[in-house]
Amino acid sequence: TRQAIVAANWKMNGSLSLVKEMISGLKQVELASNVKVVVCPSFPYLAAYSNESTKQNLSNKFCLGAQNMSEQQNGAYTGEVSSEMLSELSVNYVILGHSERRSLYQETSNLIALKVAKALEDNLTPILCIGESEQERTAEKTEAVLASQIQPVIDEIGIEKFTEVVIAYEPVWAIGTGKTASPEMAQETHAFIRQYLANESDIVAQKVPLLYGGSVNEGNCEQLFAQTDIDGGLIGGASLKVEEFSVICSTA
Ligand code: 13P
Repeated sequence: TRQAIVAANWKMNGSLSLVKEMISGLKQVELASNVKVVVCPSFPYLAAYSNESTKQNLSNKFCLGAQNMSEQQNGAYTGEVSSEMLSELSVNYVILGHSERRSLYQETSNLIALKVAKALEDNLTPILCIGESEQERTAEKTEAVLASQIQPVIDEIGIEKFTEVVIAYEPVWAIGTGKTASPEMAQETHAFIRQYLANESDIVAQKVPLLYGGSVNEGNCEQLFAQTDIDGGLIGGASLKVEEFSVICSTA
């Protein structure tokens, strides 16, 4: 069985008090044996989260992730954060190429591929986000768009290393809109992504966890997670609510 993952993307939300509340809440959650939970708060909260989860003895099935990082090693890059810094804070995952980074901060698939390579170099597991816009889906360009987002990463790291990558499929039209892809539509797209990887290596394709993201909540997560090629979720809005996020984690 593949590793299943429920990841929380807090985006530019949250507070020190949410860090404490979330850890206290997650301590009560029982996870299925193949499930890991990854909470990704903003940079200023990573150290607090890391310290607090040690203090509260949170199990190691609950991991910490960042929402972005630099493709550079270190140096004169004001405002950037390196993978080495994240590793030092016991961060194990990093969200890369979120659609908000792509659209609001002009991150290209080539830049994101460099970030994925850098993350792997410093033993961080990249959660590579891909997804089409509404316009692209209507124009039946979904598969071409997803391929154009995955291929530069394969070209950069090679297919063998892709076993260490997690993919989050997030249709842009479903993010923060309350419009979820139907479980069938999500499954169909996930199957395409797995097949795309299988064209390079079937062994790798079978190992890569594929998460679904976009308006996942306590009401729709069960049906989504039940799909063959959906191995968990990347949760935005609902991950800021301790009780609802706990339900989503225990459903996976
Ligand atoms: P929502 O769950 O708020 O739609 O956000 C999804 C997302 O972008 C997670 O990365």
